[in-house]
Amino acid sequence: MADWSPSSWTTKPIKQDVVYEDAQGVQDALGKLQKLPPLVTTQEINNLKASLRNVALGKAFVLQGGDCAELFDYCNQDMIEAKVKLLLQMSLVLIWGANKPVIRIARIAGQFAKPRSSSTEVINGVEMPSFRGDNINGFDANPASRKPDPSRLVSAYFHSAATLNYLRASLSSGLADLHSPLDWGLGHVITPSIKEQYSKIVSAVKDALRFMRTVGIDKDRGVETADIFTSHEGLSLEYEQTLTRLLRNPIERNSSSLPSSGYYATSAHFLWIGDRTRQLDGAHVEFFRGIANPIGIKIGPSMKPDELVALLEVVNPSKEIGKVTLISRYGASKISQFLPGHIAAVQASGHVPVWQCDPMHGNTQATPSGVKTRHFTDILSELKQALEIHRAAGSFLGGMHLELTGEAVTECVGGAAGLTEDGLGERYTTFCDPRLNEKQALELAFLVAGFYRQ
Ligand code: PEP
Ligand code: MN
Repeated sequence: MADWSPSSWTTKPIKQDVVYEDAQGVQDALGKLQKLPPLVTTQEINNLKASLRNVALGKAFVLQGGDCAELFDYCNQDMIEAKVKLLLQMSLVLIWGANKPVIRIARIAGQFAKPRSSSTEVINGVEMPSFRGDNINGFDANPASRKPDPSRLVSAYFHSAATLNYLRASLSSGLADLHSPLDWGLGHVITPSIKEQYSKIVSAVKDALRFMRTVGIDKDRGVETADIFTSHEGLSLEYEQTLTRLLRNPIERNSSSLPSSGYYATSAHFLWIGDRTRQLDGAHVEFFRGIANPIGIKIGPSMKPDELVALLEVVNPSKEIGKVTLISRYGASKISQFLPGHIAAVQASGHVPVWQCDPMHGNTQATPSGVKTRHFTDILSELKQALEIHRAAGSFLGGMHLELTGEAVTECVGGAAGLTEDGLGERYTTFCDPRLNEKQALELAFLVAGFYRQ
C-alpha cells in the first residue's frame, strides 16, 4: 500500500491524543509491547472477515456487545462468564428470529481506551484530566491518578491476554455447548414471560439437536462450541501500532482472495474508528486504511453522505464486500432524517458494507439530577426504524451494536422490569456510558427477533 506503514499515522493531525509527560516511559512500554506475541491470529481475523462478507450480503447477522469502558478489574471469571453467556443466549434468540447464522463479536479483552468530549473535568472543586480509560489513566478522582501513565499500555495487553485466555478456554471446555442451553442460567431477575419464551426456543433447539443426534450429524464443531470474536475502539494508536505486524497467510489459503501477507492489527479481531476520530485526513483513518482486519466506522448525524463515500474509498479502495462495518448511531428521533441518505450514497458508490445499528450512542440523556441514562424504548425504536429503513431501501440491517453487561446493573431506564429514573441509583456501576443489564439485553434480543419474524 502506497506510503503506508504502521506508524504513518504519526504524520497526520490527531484527535483525542494523549499527552504523556514521561517520554522514556512511553518508549519503554512500546518497546516491550513490540516484542510480545499477537493476541489473535491472521486465520481468526480472516475467518471473521469472511463471515462479515456474508453479513453484508444479507446471509448472516452480527451481534456486537459489551461494556462502554472495560476496566482491568473486569478481568475476572464471573464477569467474563456472565458476558459470554449473555451474548450466547442473545445470539440463540436471534438465530431463531432472523433464521440466519449469528456472528458474535464482544467488546471485550481490550475495550479500555475512551474518547472524551472534554479533556478535563472538575470534581469537588478540583480540575483534573478526564478519565480516558484504564489503559491511559486511573478513574480515582485525584490529579495524580488521572495523570496518563504509559505503563498502563503494557497492563492493557496483559489484561487483554488474560481475558482472552479465559474466554477461549471456557468456550473450548463447553461453555457454549448447545446441548445444555438451559445451563446458561437465566439469572434470578428474569421475568416469567421472557423465561417462557426463552424456554420455548430452547426446547425447539433441543428437538433439533435430538434429531441431529439420531441421524448422526451432531458431531461437527458448531454444536459443542461457538466462536466469539473480540473488538475494541482503535483509539490509542501507539498501542495498536506495536501490535500491528506484517504476517503471512498460509500458502494453501492463497488460492482464494487472500493476499500472501498483510499488516494485521493483532490486539483484537475487529477494531472500529469512533465518531470523534473519523476525520478523512486524520491519524486514525490513516492507521485504519492499512490494516487487513475487518474494521468498523461509527457514523452519526454529523456525517455527510459524500464524506461517507470518500471515507469508504480511503479505507477500502478495492471495495471488498464486508470489509467495513458502518455502525450507525443517530438517535431514535434522528435516524429517519439521516440513514436513508447514507444508504443511498453508499449504494450509488458500489460499496457493500455491513450496516450495523448502534442504538445506544445517539440516545444518551441525563436525568434531572444529572445521571447519564438511556431509555429502553428509544433503543428499541432506533433498532426498529433501522430495520424498516434498510428494508425500504433494498438494503440489509446486518446487525446491532450494544453496550451491555452480564451484571444486574441499573443504568438504562425501562424494559419489562420497569426500571425508572428513581431506581437508577441502585446499582449504577458504569465508568462511562449506561449499559443494558442482562435482563434488558435478552429482552431486546427477543423483541428484535420478533421484528424479523413479522
Ligand atoms: C463507544 O462506542 O463507546 C463510543 C464512544 O461511541 P461513538 O464513537 O459512537 O461515540
Ligand atoms: Mn459508549
